[in-house]
Amino acid sequence: MLHIFNTLSRKKEIFKPLHGKQVGLYTCGPTVYNYAHIGNLRTYVFEDVLQRALEYNGYKVKRVMNTTDVGHLTSDADTGEDKIEKEAKKEKKSVWDVTKFYTEEFLKDIKDLNIKVPKLLVPATKTIPEQIKIVKTLFKKGLAYETSKAVYFDVSKFRNYTELSRQPLSEKITAAREEVVADPEKRHPADFALWFKLVGDFKNHIMRWPSPWSDGFPGWHIECSAISTKFLGQPFDIHTGGVDHINVHHTNEIAQSEGAFNKPLAKYWMHGEFLLIDQNRMGKSVGNFITINDLKKEGFDPLAFRYLILTSHYRSRLNFSWDSLKSAANAYVGLKHNLSLLQGYSKLKTKNASESKQLIATAVRKFKNAINDDLNTPEALGSIHELLNQLAGLQKENKLNSQNAGLALKEILKLDSILGLNLKNLPKIPAKIRQMAKKRELLRANKQFTQADALRKEIETLGFSIEDTPAGPLVIPN
Ligand code: AMP
Ligand code: ZN
Repeated sequence: MLHIFNTLSRKKEIFKPLHGKQVGLYTCGPTVYNYAHIGNLRTYVFEDVLQRALEYNGYKVKRVMNTTDVGHLTSDADTGEDKIEKEAKKEKKSVWDVTKFYTEEFLKDIKDLNIKVPKLLVPATKTIPEQIKIVKTLFKKGLAYETSKAVYFDVSKFRNYTELSRQPLSEKITAAREEVVADPEKRHPADFALWFKLVGDFKNHIMRWPSPWSDGFPGWHIECSAISTKFLGQPFDIHTGGVDHINVHHTNEIAQSEGAFNKPLAKYWMHGEFLLIDQNRMGKSVGNFITINDLKKEGFDPLAFRYLILTSHYRSRLNFSWDSLKSAANAYVGLKHNLSLLQGYSKLKTKNASESKQLIATAVRKFKNAINDDLNTPEALGSIHELLNQLAGLQKENKLNSQNAGLALKEILKLDSILGLNLKNLPKIPAKIRQMAKKRELLRANKQFTQADALRKEIETLGFSIEDTPAGPLVIPN
């Protein structure tokens, strides 16, 4: 049974979907004004593992993700410039070219990390009418008001505005001071923008749409209320994002959606912790960020970064360093090496009795329990390594039979449907290499050791090695 930590209750809960085996999953997506950094991508990997774990548990997941291509201002407190328009000016490109370019880059990054592309990836600008409709409903319910600059959500009229964040409203007021200065007509400093009018700093805002309150553009949060309701209905099962979304973005989404429709937005809220660098949060605006392209330039396989992410629990902070990535890359290569050994072993015809079946069953059980315990990926990975060590030990003593080696490989590849480390893509041994290895065996049988050694060296220069096991020699990729 799957247990997940629900930020709403601050407890681990048994996951009980709202509609049988169907699960609605909403994951807040990127603001497409820059490359995603590896911190953002840590959150997307966590969400990907969640989707895969749900699927492994037999659920059919309908996953929706937005891309923010308008309305996210340089300060999350609704002040400053629109991030997209600022970047367009800097790059001397149109706003549409900027969002198109960074959306495509985002898709490349998630492909590199073997993250399943959400079937419904919806740009904010594609649901403007739906957003306006929700704002109109909020007006009707007395939850929205208009100033000469914008339309705001009135937090004082909404019951329990801080239910998710549990943050005292007084703290929010301090954080929102800057905004009060930006619009003196705002009633409450914590009120947040639903629609910006084309006045003041936004007089020349390029992205603009007609609305009942004057031409303008939406505030940052309303897109997620509109997109989630449109594609998943309300309530839906799980809503996710990084922990920074708890206090502002998700709190505001709840106010909008629940205010408009009088029912809960989502049953479970899950939040991934930060990726840090030098013990500080990695952030686009902080300027301390690293991208997948940077990792590739340094010669790293992006999946080694995925491996690194999986070595820590999604609710723990993870400090990134090049050394930790190097260790993860070595462990990832080691894992594939061990699987190649198993694969090779499974093809040898050994019939010796084996204790391994029980070990495999135990490892699979441990893995499943770990994943179903709020996605404990470090423990899940640990159970695979433990099994591989045990099997290697048995193999050295000639106590592993090839059938069980094959079974272990098959089971581990099934578990990888959750980890997403692409373990099934083990390098193939070309026919030429296999022939060379056979020839070497013949030479050895004829005691022509010098020639046999020369052939072994040649095989090594071609990227493969030969491991002599009690059951016979194995060819594996280096
Ligand atoms: P953004 O593009 O800024 O809206 O962020 C996209 C996603 O990345 C959101 O779910 C954020 O909560 C998350 N995020 C931002 N910074 C980090 C970080 N340093 N570590 C992990 N996740 C982050
Ligand atoms: Zn959102």
